[in-house]
Amino acid sequence: MITRPQSNSADSADTWLVNLPPTAQQSRIALAVAVLLLVGMGATALFADAPLPRIDAFIPAIEVAVILTSLITAVLLFSQCWIHHSRALLALASGYLFTALIVIPHILTFPGAFSPTGLLDAGLQSTGWLYIFWHAGLPVALLIYAFNKGEKLTEPITQSSTLFAVGCSVAIVVSLVCGLTWLATAGERFLPRVFLDATHLAPLSHYVVGFEALICVVVLAILWGRQRSVLDQWLMVVTLAFLSELVINGLLISARFTLGFYASRIFSVVTSTIVLIVLLDENTRLYGRLARSNAMLQSEQNNKLMNLEALAASISHEVRQPLTAIVAGGSALLRYLGHTPPKLEKLRSAGERMIAASHRASQILDDVRNLFGTAEREQVSVDVNDLALSALRALDSELKNHNIRTRVKLKAELLPVMGHSGQLHGVIVNLMQNAIDAMDAVDDDRRVLQVRTEHNGGDAVSVEIEDTGPGIDPQKSADIFDAFFTTKAHGMGLGLAICRMIIERHEGKLSVSSANPHGAVFRIKLPQIKLPH
Ligand code: ADP
Repeated sequence: MITRPQSNSADSADTWLVNLPPTAQQSRIALAVAVLLLVGMGATALFADAPLPRIDAFIPAIEVAVILTSLITAVLLFSQCWIHHSRALLALASGYLFTALIVIPHILTFPGAFSPTGLLDAGLQSTGWLYIFWHAGLPVALLIYAFNKGEKLTEPITQSSTLFAVGCSVAIVVSLVCGLTWLATAGERFLPRVFLDATHLAPLSHYVVGFEALICVVVLAILWGRQRSVLDQWLMVVTLAFLSELVINGLLISARFTLGFYASRIFSVVTSTIVLIVLLDENTRLYGRLARSNAMLQSEQNNKLMNLEALAASISHEVRQPLTAIVAGGSALLRYLGHTPPKLEKLRSAGERMIAASHRASQILDDVRNLFGTAEREQVSVDVNDLALSALRALDSELKNHNIRTRVKLKAELLPVMGHSGQLHGVIVNLMQNAIDAMDAVDDDRRVLQVRTEHNGGDAVSVEIEDTGPGIDPQKSADIFDAFFTTKAHGMGLGLAICRMIIERHEGKLSVSSANPHGAVFRIKLPQIKLPH
């Protein structure tokens, strides 16, 4: 079963050319086409009534083009009307459908096209009246479009479904075309004379065509007089082409097969083609936008998957270290238990290491939960000095195991920062752990970890973690913050990426520079809480 697209008509209409205001470039193109049309009409006007050779195949050829382009335009407009629920578009689509259908009997009845006097039992006046009916359809449709456009654009056309309204319109148009064809052929004898003979126009035709030209002028005036959309602008060009054709036929020529007669048919093709080109262009743009949105959606999904992967990897990475410490502590404990007598002091220290590692694992899990869960709600005032000291305490045994000396220089009376203490603690621990890892590459006696806190400008505090390791290659100092960048055999390359994300969430900055004479300094800058004066 085919279902109607469930779009929000108001939103979708705003993004389509019915409501979109034209860009400067679109206006320039429309203006250029309008000027070309006027120049074409002016040039034709000079020699409009000049007789040219009779070409019987001209009318069928040119009018088949009009039928096809009008029909495709009508189908596209009906589908847009189905999406946007627009009464104005329904009128326009019906106008194009009417044009496509009424041109068929016009070709068939045209004298000399398929038979000397035309098919469908046509009389002398049949083709003339069909031409008049044909050229009444689109101006009337444009008039209805112009009056219905605006405020009521997105209201439903009828109480029943849009599809029903489209179906009704098609049925009305088909019936109208059938009725008018019947009137112009079977009822030809009741119609006033618009042709004196098979070639020359009667005076009445000038008045009727002139009246149709007047409707076009009114449409132009209405469309001109209000805020225009892209479609309105092109419909003005269509109306101008239509007007040009009617002026040539109604005022400038007196017979068929003159320069004006042939030229006016070219205007017919222009009229039926312009909206089609605009709609196709719009559809191509929409397709492009859709393809881009799909690509973005795809990359968004990939990012989400990456984030999940990163989260899983980060948890396993962070938790592995304390778990390894617990396992090592457990093995040591069993080993010491096997001694006779058991080495109680060593047993106690192994047990303490296991407990500390368990606390760290639990702290990590809390941090991860806070980071991806309820972080916003748990922002508190945090003392950065306390954080630095607590991170040093958490890594105390690691520092000892790696023979690392520490130098701590904390600024007294630092103003607190606002944030999530668990996350900030995790960042400092991570930076210290990286420093410990880095200093594995240098001799024991050169291993020093410095931790400093400072005022940073008038409104920020900074924490610096400096090591005496090999430092960071300046060319890589930007890459180390990328997810999955690592130079360690068992590294995940996520620590710094997550640290930077956390600091940026706190509206701070995490940067790195080279230490003097060697090593790396990581600097966390955080905005401090402003005290009321
Ligand atoms: P991981 O520790 O899993 O490698 P990180 O994101 O924490 O992931 O670190 C990324 C890389 O940055 C490390 O592999 C290392 O090359 C470099 N790095 C981080 N900290 C230091 C440091 N203090 N000294 C030298 N290099 C460092």
